[in-house]
Amino acid sequence: MNGEHKITGGHRARTAVVYLRQSTLMQVREHTESTLRQYALAGTAVALGWAARDVEVIDRDLGLSGTSAAHRQGFRELMSRVCLGEIGAVLGLEISRLGRSNADLARLAEMARLTDTLLIDADGVYDLTDFNDWLVLGLKSTMSQAELHIMAGRLQAAKRAAAERGELRAPLPVGLVYDDGGMVVTDPDAEVRAAVADIFACFLAAGSAYGVVAAFAGRKFPQRAYGGAWAGQLRWSPLTHHRVLQVLKNPAYAGAYVYGRCVTRKKIDADGNVRTVTADLPRAQWPVLIKDHHPGYVTWEEYLAIEARLAANHTGGGGRPVREGTALCQGIIICGGCGGPMAANYHGDDRASYECHSHRDGKKTPGCRSITAHAVDDAVAGALLAALTPEQVALALAAAGEVTSQHQRTSRAAELAVERARYEADRAERAFSQVEPENRLVARTLEARWEAKLAAFADAEQALAAAQDALPPLPDRASLEKLAADLPALWHAPTTTPRDRKRLLRTLIADVTLLPEANRAKARIGIRWHTGAADEIVIDRPRPTGVPAPTPSPATGLIRELGPVTSNTDLVTLLAQRGYLTGAGRPFDIKAIQWVRHAYQIPSPSPCRGTEISVAEAARRLGCSPGVVYYWTETGQLDARRSPGGRLCIPWTPATEADCRARITSSGHLNPAARRTRPTQHR
Ligand SMILES: [Zn+2]
Repeated sequence: MNGEHKITGGHRARTAVVYLRQSTLMQVREHTESTLRQYALAGTAVALGWAARDVEVIDRDLGLSGTSAAHRQGFRELMSRVCLGEIGAVLGLEISRLGRSNADLARLAEMARLTDTLLIDADGVYDLTDFNDWLVLGLKSTMSQAELHIMAGRLQAAKRAAAERGELRAPLPVGLVYDDGGMVVTDPDAEVRAAVADIFACFLAAGSAYGVVAAFAGRKFPQRAYGGAWAGQLRWSPLTHHRVLQVLKNPAYAGAYVYGRCVTRKKIDADGNVRTVTADLPRAQWPVLIKDHHPGYVTWEEYLAIEARLAANHTGGGGRPVREGTALCQGIIICGGCGGPMAANYHGDDRASYECHSHRDGKKTPGCRSITAHAVDDAVAGALLAALTPEQVALALAAAGEVTSQHQRTSRAAELAVERARYEADRAERAFSQVEPENRLVARTLEARWEAKLAAFADAEQALAAAQDALPPLPDRASLEKLAADLPALWHAPTTTPRDRKRLLRTLIADVTLLPEANRAKARIGIRWHTGAADEIVIDRPRPTGVPAPTPSPATGLIRELGPVTSNTDLVTLLAQRGYLTGAGRPFDIKAIQWVRHAYQIPSPSPCRGTEISVAEAARRLGCSPGVVYYWTETGQLDARRSPGGRLCIPWTPATEADCRARITSSGHLNPAARRTRPTQHR
């Protein structure tokens, strides 16, 4: 070996270390040649005169990537042992590549120089105390970096050129495969195709990725493994939200060839380690996009529509998707005062209101208002139903087509599962029939497998039968047409969910604005249609809850006349007999009468009997506050009876009155004159 004379007895007395490094697990798995050569270095060390027991192999860094030494335990161990001076020589396949970066190698070389450690590779022995060797190693290290850079550059350029022609092969998402000619085609497996197509169909129906997950409950989704022990195999697993998004966002399903959809960036984390993160690029920045490159599952236009829908669902990005609540204009109503979105707030028993939340940001303007949701909703729904008339039938027929195809999809998936189970059972049977009878152990295993496959087949058939039974019968076309002709009934039907109504609303109406209105009893609502047309509706603003509608005068007159001497219960009966209704059109109840009493200051009849008087009356006669009288009754100084209505009735006699007056006279607190008669204290 070149420079073998540089090895002295002093070096051989210390340990020789073979340092192994291979970046990724794939390199370890596929470049076995290199790994073998690295292990063979131990033999080289022995040939150079080290005793076999003094040769150590550090291979902890096999399969670890990273351009710094931070994660590589083996390299750290190597460095510390070199520093301690216990190592005579470090052997590597190519010393200039020992460390992944120049900085790592420079540190190793510096330590090796100080501790007189040799570095040995296929080219020879480097004694770093020798200036020539130091210089050569430095040069080689620089050149290897340059080589990496140039090679990477060439590879990237070649890759990019191939990508621009749409010929760079990348792993395809499930549902697409390369045919023998290298062209991208849809998967020949009908079950896989159906599963992928169903994701798109379910998204169209449900409108959200979570909706797709729900629709796939109990059903599995295929995944093709790349690399590793399962390479190329199809595996079925439950569908997750993340996978749905991956499928929906992948332009390959729209038949487009894309290169550079993601970029990797280096980041330094809090511990100072370099990490590589992957980020999606916005569509406008994709370096290569070739439309109509191969057959897809959706058209490019559909892909764009899905993208827009996903963005609208993304509340973190400002989207306001349809929610479950009853407030129809949720998500599309805007405050005309400040221009901000209005939130739909629910106040128990489903009464909602639209409220402008700009005051939170300090942007509230005098025009900002809140309004009861049903007032706006009724007006907007009215406008929508009026606008829908000419399109009734077309809409219903489109809906019918959608329902039928959805119906077929459900059972089609189960049918395909049965077919697959039958195929697998057949295959297990073939395998069993082909085994030699003498080979009993194998035959037993294969028989068990066949039985298992037969059981799975039976299960799949049962699932198919169940799926077909579970389907509700489809309404016939005539009844659908009849239904469509009466859209208002469909709109108000209890089976129509608020979500359905909101989706329908949003297909035609872009947004609704609560316009500023000087008259506080009115509300002005602006409707902007997707067509660009705009409507304005003025409605009566509903009174705030709690304020009764004005009661018609005959009923009021009766309550005014009889109220002071008639109890509320009797008034209810009386008003009902005469057929009087409240301003809101409901029969009078106790609460309504209390409101009228409150509004017109009509006193209730006194519950007191005979000589009894009320607290207010007693206070008036004594010239004190009612609180004093209440205090006496509570402390037992004055007798009182509580009426069924909860009011106090005080039996009043001249003696009682005299007692009370005496109490007032003696109380310094109540009687200022009494206070003055007290002796004043003088110093
Ligand atoms: Zn506002």
